Amino acid sequence: MNAEILGPEEATRARRYQMKRLWLGLAASVVGFAVPAGFWIMAPGEWFREAGGSLFWAGAMYFAVLVAVHHIAAFPLDCASEFRLPRSVGLSNESLGGWLKDQGKSLVLNILIGGAVAGALAQIMAWRPYGWWWISAVLGTVFGIFMVLVTPVLIVPLFFRFKRITNSDLVERLENLLVRTGSRVRGGVWEMDMSRRTRAGNAALVGWGPSRRVVLGDTVLDYAPEEIEAILAHEIAHHVGNHIWLLIAGRGVSLTAGLFLAHQLFRFPEVFMSLGAPVPIPGGPSSIGALWIFMTIWGVILAPFYRWISRRLEFWCDRFAASHTGGAEAISSALTRLCKNNLADPSPPAWAVTFFHTHPPLGERIRRVRETS
Ligand SMILES: [Zn+2]
Repeated sequence: MNAEILGPEEATRARRYQMKRLWLGLAASVVGFAVPAGFWIMAPGEWFREAGGSLFWAGAMYFAVLVAVHHIAAFPLDCASEFRLPRSVGLSNESLGGWLKDQGKSLVLNILIGGAVAGALAQIMAWRPYGWWWISAVLGTVFGIFMVLVTPVLIVPLFFRFKRITNSDLVERLENLLVRTGSRVRGGVWEMDMSRRTRAGNAALVGWGPSRRVVLGDTVLDYAPEEIEAILAHEIAHHVGNHIWLLIAGRGVSLTAGLFLAHQLFRFPEVFMSLGAPVPIPGGPSSIGALWIFMTIWGVILAPFYRWISRRLEFWCDRFAASHTGGAEAISSALTRLCKNNLADPSPPAWAVTFFHTHPPLGERIRRVRETS
C-alpha cells in the first residue's frame, strides 16, 4: 500500500520524517511536563498569595509563571520539531521570525485566557471547598462552548488570513453538496493562507452557529475540482454527524471526571507530603499547580480512547464523502495527494497510531473507503 501511494523511497523518507517528528514532540512533552512539575514542588505558593493580593490574582499570576516555565523548558525541542525539522525536508517555508512571532502570540493568549480561568478556579475552590469540582466542570464546559464559537472569528485570524472562496465552480459544487446532504453550514466556506508557512494541505470544520464554517487551506486549492469537492464533503460529514458537539460532550465528561478525581485526591495530604510537594489548600496558588499536573496525567490516560473515537469518525466521514460525490475515486485520490504533499507516513507503526493519531493512517483510509464504497 505504501509503495502504491508514495513509492518506496518517498515512503521511507516520510516514515523517517514522521518518526523524528514524533520522538522530538514526545521529548518536548516530557520536558514540558517535568519542568512545571518541579516548579509546582518548589514554587513559593505563599509568595504568590501575598504578591497577588486576592485569590484570583494569585492564581492567575501563578498560572502565568507556570505557562512561561513550560514554554521556556519545551522551547528548544519545540523549535526542533515544529520549525527546523519541517524546513529541513522542504515542507515548511516559514521564517524563524515568523515562527517566533506565532510562538509569542500563543504564549500571550495562553497566559491571558488560561490565567483568567486559573484565577476564577482558585476563587471557586475557596468559595466551595467541597463542590468546586462540579461547578468548575459546568462552567469550564460552557466556557469551552463559548471558545468554539469565538475561536474561528477572534483567535485563528491572529495567525492566518481568511477570505471567502470565490471560485464559482467550487461555490456551485459546494452548494449542490449542501443541497444533496440536506445540511446548512451557516458561515460558508473560507480559504486560509496556509501557503505562507507550509506546502502541507489541510481542511477543517470549525465554529458553532453563525461562526460554523468549512476552512480550506489555500494549499489544496490547486487539487482537481473533484478532489476538493470530496474534501468539502468529508468536512460536511463532520457537520452532519454533529462531531463538534460530540467533541464538546466528550471534553465535558472527561473534565468532570478529572476534576472529581482531583478533588478526591486533594483530601489525602499525605500523598503530597510523600512527594515533597505543597499540600493543595482549596484556592491556594499551588492547588493550581497540582491541578495542572493531575489534569495533564488524566489527559494522557484518556488520549488513546478519545483518539480511537476520533479515528472511527474520520472513517465515517470518508465513507460519507464517497457516497455523496459519486464513489471512492475522488476522496481516495484527494487523500493520496494529501499524503504526498504532507509527507505523511501511509502506514505508521500501530503503537504510534493508538497513542497519538487523531486520524487513521492514510493508507488504511484509502483502502477502507475503496472497500466500503
Ligand atoms: Zn475529518
